[in-house]
Amino acid sequence: MSQRKIAVAIDGPAGAGKSTIARAVAAELGFIYVDTGALYRAVGLYGLRKNADTASADQMLPLLEEIKVELAYVEGEQRVLLNGEDVSQAIRVNEASMAASNVSAIPGVRSFLFDLQKNMAKTHNVVMDGRDIGTVVLPEAQVKIFLTATPEERATRRYNELLEKGQKVDFDQLLAEVKQRDYNDSHRATAPLKQAEDAVLVDTTGLDKEQSIEKILDLVRSKL
Ligand code: C5P
Repeated sequence: MSQRKIAVAIDGPAGAGKSTIARAVAAELGFIYVDTGALYRAVGLYGLRKNADTASADQMLPLLEEIKVELAYVEGEQRVLLNGEDVSQAIRVNEASMAASNVSAIPGVRSFLFDLQKNMAKTHNVVMDGRDIGTVVLPEAQVKIFLTATPEERATRRYNELLEKGQKVDFDQLLAEVKQRDYNDSHRATAPLKQAEDAVLVDTTGLDKEQSIEKILDLVRSKL
Protein backbone atom coordinates (compact mmCIF):
# COMPACT_ATOMS: atom_id res chain seq x y z
CA MET A 1 0.00 0.00 0.00
CA SER A 2 1.34 3.39 -0.91
CA GLN A 3 1.55 5.97 1.83
CA ARG A 4 -1.30 8.46 1.96
CA LYS A 5 -0.27 11.72 0.35
CA ILE A 6 -0.80 15.19 1.73
CA ALA A 7 -2.73 17.78 -0.24
CA VAL A 8 -3.07 21.51 0.31
CA ALA A 9 -5.90 22.95 -1.79
CA ILE A 10 -5.87 26.67 -2.56
CA ASP A 11 -8.90 28.06 -4.39
CA GLY A 12 -10.04 31.57 -5.14
CA PRO A 13 -10.65 34.11 -7.88
CA ALA A 14 -8.09 35.25 -10.46
CA GLY A 15 -5.34 37.48 -9.11
CA ALA A 16 -5.82 36.73 -5.41
CA GLY A 17 -2.18 35.59 -5.29
CA LYS A 18 -2.84 31.85 -5.44
CA SER A 19 0.02 30.89 -7.74
CA THR A 20 2.69 32.99 -6.01
CA ILE A 21 1.63 31.74 -2.60
CA ALA A 22 1.07 28.13 -3.63
CA ARG A 23 4.48 27.98 -5.31
CA ALA A 24 6.25 29.38 -2.24
CA VAL A 25 4.35 27.14 0.17
CA ALA A 26 5.12 24.07 -1.95
CA ALA A 27 8.82 24.94 -2.05
CA GLU A 28 8.87 25.42 1.71
CA LEU A 29 7.15 22.08 2.39
CA GLY A 30 8.99 20.15 -0.32
CA PHE A 31 5.70 19.42 -2.10
CA ILE A 32 4.90 19.66 -5.81
CA TYR A 33 3.02 22.77 -6.94
CA VAL A 34 0.18 22.04 -9.35
CA ASP A 35 -1.28 25.06 -11.14
CA THR A 36 -4.55 23.71 -12.53
CA GLY A 37 -5.46 26.97 -14.28
CA ALA A 38 -2.62 26.20 -16.68
CA LEU A 39 -4.50 23.10 -17.85
CA TYR A 40 -7.63 25.09 -18.75
CA ARG A 41 -5.41 27.69 -20.41
CA ALA A 42 -3.78 25.00 -22.56
CA VAL A 43 -7.19 23.79 -23.76
CA GLY A 44 -8.26 27.42 -24.33
CA LEU A 45 -5.08 28.12 -26.28
CA TYR A 46 -5.72 25.13 -28.52
CA GLY A 47 -9.21 26.48 -29.24
CA LEU A 48 -7.80 29.92 -30.08
CA ARG A 49 -5.25 28.39 -32.42
CA LYS A 50 -8.01 26.48 -34.20
CA ASN A 51 -10.09 29.68 -34.46
CA ALA A 52 -12.85 27.99 -32.48
CA ASP A 53 -15.40 29.82 -30.34
CA THR A 54 -13.94 28.79 -26.97
CA ALA A 55 -17.31 29.29 -25.27
CA SER A 56 -18.99 26.75 -27.56
CA ALA A 57 -19.18 23.17 -26.30
CA ASP A 58 -20.12 22.03 -29.81
CA GLN A 59 -16.90 23.47 -31.17
CA MET A 60 -14.59 22.63 -28.26
CA LEU A 61 -15.62 19.04 -27.44
CA PRO A 62 -14.53 17.51 -30.79
CA LEU A 63 -11.18 19.28 -30.41
CA LEU A 64 -10.50 17.43 -27.14
CA GLU A 65 -9.91 14.28 -29.18
CA GLU A 66 -6.92 15.99 -30.78
CA ILE A 67 -5.47 17.24 -27.50
CA LYS A 68 -3.04 15.69 -25.07
CA VAL A 69 -2.26 17.83 -22.03
CA GLU A 70 0.59 16.82 -19.75
CA LEU A 71 2.46 18.30 -16.81
CA ALA A 72 6.22 18.11 -16.52
CA TYR A 73 8.57 19.47 -13.89
CA VAL A 74 11.83 21.11 -14.89
CA GLU A 75 13.98 22.08 -11.91
CA GLY A 76 10.87 22.06 -9.74
CA GLU A 77 8.94 24.40 -12.07
CA GLN A 78 5.73 23.15 -13.64
CA ARG A 79 5.66 23.06 -17.42
CA VAL A 80 2.50 22.43 -19.42
CA LEU A 81 2.76 20.35 -22.54
CA LEU A 82 0.14 20.61 -25.25
CA ASN A 83 0.63 17.73 -27.68
CA GLY A 84 4.25 17.64 -26.62
CA GLU A 85 4.83 21.39 -27.09
CA ASP A 86 5.82 23.38 -24.02
CA VAL A 87 3.16 26.11 -23.95
CA SER A 88 3.95 27.42 -20.45
CA GLN A 89 4.68 30.89 -21.81
CA ALA A 90 2.07 30.95 -24.57
CA ILE A 91 -0.80 30.29 -22.13
CA ARG A 92 0.02 33.45 -20.14
CA VAL A 93 -1.10 35.95 -22.79
CA ASN A 94 -4.22 37.83 -21.87
CA GLU A 95 -6.42 36.26 -24.58
CA ALA A 96 -5.70 32.83 -23.11
CA SER A 97 -7.17 33.93 -19.77
CA MET A 98 -10.61 34.56 -21.21
CA ALA A 99 -10.37 31.46 -23.41
CA ALA A 100 -9.56 29.41 -20.28
CA SER A 101 -12.51 30.90 -18.45
CA ASN A 102 -14.73 30.05 -21.42
CA VAL A 103 -13.64 26.43 -21.82
CA SER A 104 -13.74 25.84 -18.07
CA ALA A 105 -17.52 26.26 -18.11
CA ILE A 106 -17.86 23.24 -20.43
CA PRO A 107 -18.42 20.09 -18.30
CA GLY A 108 -16.70 17.85 -20.88
CA VAL A 109 -13.55 19.95 -20.60
CA ARG A 110 -13.61 19.71 -16.81
CA SER A 111 -13.91 15.92 -16.85
CA PHE A 112 -11.22 15.75 -19.55
CA LEU A 113 -8.77 17.42 -17.11
CA PHE A 114 -10.02 15.74 -13.92
CA ASP A 115 -7.96 12.52 -13.95
CA LEU A 116 -4.71 14.34 -14.57
CA GLN A 117 -5.28 16.49 -11.47
CA LYS A 118 -6.43 13.55 -9.36
CA ASN A 119 -3.45 11.42 -10.35
CA MET A 120 -0.99 14.16 -9.43
CA ALA A 121 -2.38 14.14 -5.89
CA LYS A 122 -2.37 10.33 -5.72
CA THR A 123 1.30 10.10 -6.52
CA HIS A 124 2.74 13.23 -4.86
CA ASN A 125 2.33 15.52 -1.88
CA VAL A 126 0.85 18.58 -3.56
CA VAL A 127 -0.09 22.18 -3.16
CA MET A 128 -2.76 22.51 -5.84
CA ASP A 129 -4.41 25.76 -6.82
CA GLY A 130 -7.52 26.41 -8.86
CA ARG A 131 -11.23 27.10 -8.46
CA ASP A 132 -12.71 23.75 -7.43
CA ILE A 133 -9.82 21.91 -5.81
CA GLY A 134 -11.24 21.86 -2.26
CA THR A 135 -14.80 21.28 -3.45
CA VAL A 136 -14.53 18.85 -6.39
CA VAL A 137 -11.04 17.66 -7.29
CA LEU A 138 -9.60 16.99 -3.81
CA PRO A 139 -12.47 17.20 -1.30
CA GLU A 140 -10.31 15.00 0.96
CA ALA A 141 -7.44 17.56 1.08
CA GLN A 142 -6.01 17.96 4.59
CA VAL A 143 -5.75 21.74 4.24
CA LYS A 144 -8.16 23.95 2.27
CA ILE A 145 -7.71 27.64 1.78
CA PHE A 146 -9.96 30.09 -0.03
CA LEU A 147 -7.85 33.05 -1.03
CA THR A 148 -9.42 36.31 -2.06
CA ALA A 149 -8.85 40.07 -2.50
CA THR A 150 -10.95 42.93 -3.90
CA PRO A 151 -11.37 43.05 -7.72
CA GLU A 152 -9.48 46.37 -7.85
CA GLU A 153 -6.51 44.96 -5.95
CA ARG A 154 -6.48 41.86 -8.14
CA ALA A 155 -6.68 43.87 -11.38
CA THR A 156 -3.81 46.09 -10.18
CA ARG A 157 -1.66 43.03 -9.51
CA ARG A 158 -2.44 41.55 -12.92
CA TYR A 159 -1.72 44.90 -14.56
CA ASN A 160 1.72 45.13 -12.94
CA GLU A 161 2.45 41.49 -13.76
CA LEU A 162 1.65 41.98 -17.44
CA LEU A 163 3.56 45.26 -17.51
CA GLU A 164 6.64 43.48 -16.15
CA LYS A 165 6.35 41.02 -19.02
CA GLY A 166 6.18 43.93 -21.46
CA GLN A 167 2.43 43.57 -22.17
CA LYS A 168 0.71 46.92 -21.94
CA VAL A 169 -3.02 46.63 -21.35
CA ASP A 170 -5.75 49.08 -20.45
CA PHE A 171 -6.42 48.99 -16.68
CA ASP A 172 -10.17 49.55 -16.94
CA GLN A 173 -10.45 46.78 -19.48
CA LEU A 174 -8.44 44.49 -17.21
CA LEU A 175 -10.68 45.30 -14.25
CA ALA A 176 -13.76 44.60 -16.36
CA GLU A 177 -12.23 41.26 -17.41
CA VAL A 178 -11.42 40.33 -13.81
CA LYS A 179 -15.04 41.00 -12.85
CA GLN A 180 -16.31 39.12 -15.91
CA ARG A 181 -14.16 36.09 -15.08
CA ASP A 182 -15.31 36.22 -11.43
CA TYR A 183 -18.87 36.22 -12.64
CA ASN A 184 -18.29 33.41 -15.15
CA ASP A 185 -16.36 31.29 -12.66
CA SER A 186 -18.87 31.64 -9.84
CA HIS A 187 -22.04 31.33 -11.94
CA ARG A 188 -21.27 28.37 -14.15
CA ALA A 189 -23.37 25.26 -13.61
CA THR A 190 -20.46 22.83 -13.24
CA ALA A 191 -17.96 23.18 -10.37
CA PRO A 192 -18.51 26.90 -9.78
CA LEU A 193 -15.98 28.89 -7.78
CA LYS A 194 -17.13 28.76 -4.17
CA GLN A 195 -15.55 28.35 -0.80
CA ALA A 196 -15.57 24.80 0.52
CA GLU A 197 -17.37 24.55 3.87
CA ASP A 198 -14.18 23.42 5.58
CA ALA A 199 -11.88 25.93 3.84
CA VAL A 200 -10.24 28.80 5.71
CA LEU A 201 -10.95 32.20 4.14
CA VAL A 202 -7.89 34.43 3.69
CA ASP A 203 -8.23 37.95 2.26
CA THR A 204 -4.90 39.24 0.89
CA THR A 205 -6.09 42.81 0.17
CA GLY A 206 -3.41 45.12 1.57
CA LEU A 207 -0.99 42.28 2.30
CA ASP A 208 2.23 42.08 0.31
CA LYS A 209 3.63 38.87 -1.10
CA GLU A 210 5.77 37.96 1.91
CA GLN A 211 2.99 38.69 4.41
CA SER A 212 0.55 36.55 2.41
CA ILE A 213 2.99 33.65 2.17
CA GLU A 214 3.76 33.82 5.89
CA LYS A 215 0.08 33.84 6.78
CA ILE A 216 -0.65 30.78 4.66
CA LEU A 217 2.43 28.90 5.86
CA ASP A 218 1.40 29.45 9.49
CA LEU A 219 -2.03 28.17 8.66
CA VAL A 220 -0.77 25.08 6.83
CA ARG A 221 1.69 24.23 9.61
CA SER A 222 -1.03 24.49 12.22
CA LYS A 223 -3.16 22.01 10.26
CA LEU A 224 -0.53 19.40 9.39
O1 C5P B 1 -5.92 30.39 -12.40
P1 C5P B 1 -5.98 30.89 -13.81
O2 C5P B 1 -6.31 32.34 -13.93
O3 C5P B 1 -4.77 30.53 -14.60
O4 C5P B 1 -7.18 30.07 -14.46
C1 C5P B 1 -7.66 30.36 -15.74
C2 C5P B 1 -9.15 30.03 -15.80
O5 C5P B 1 -9.30 28.60 -15.70
C3 C5P B 1 -10.00 30.61 -14.68
O6 C5P B 1 -10.59 31.83 -15.01
C4 C5P B 1 -11.06 29.56 -14.46
O7 C5P B 1 -12.16 29.85 -15.28
C5 C5P B 1 -10.47 28.29 -14.96
N1 C5P B 1 -10.13 27.35 -13.89
C6 C5P B 1 -11.12 26.51 -13.42
N2 C5P B 1 -10.83 25.57 -12.49
C7 C5P B 1 -9.60 25.46 -11.99
C8 C5P B 1 -8.57 26.33 -12.43
C9 C5P B 1 -8.88 27.28 -13.38
O8 C5P B 1 -12.25 26.60 -13.85
N3 C5P B 1 -9.35 24.51 -11.09
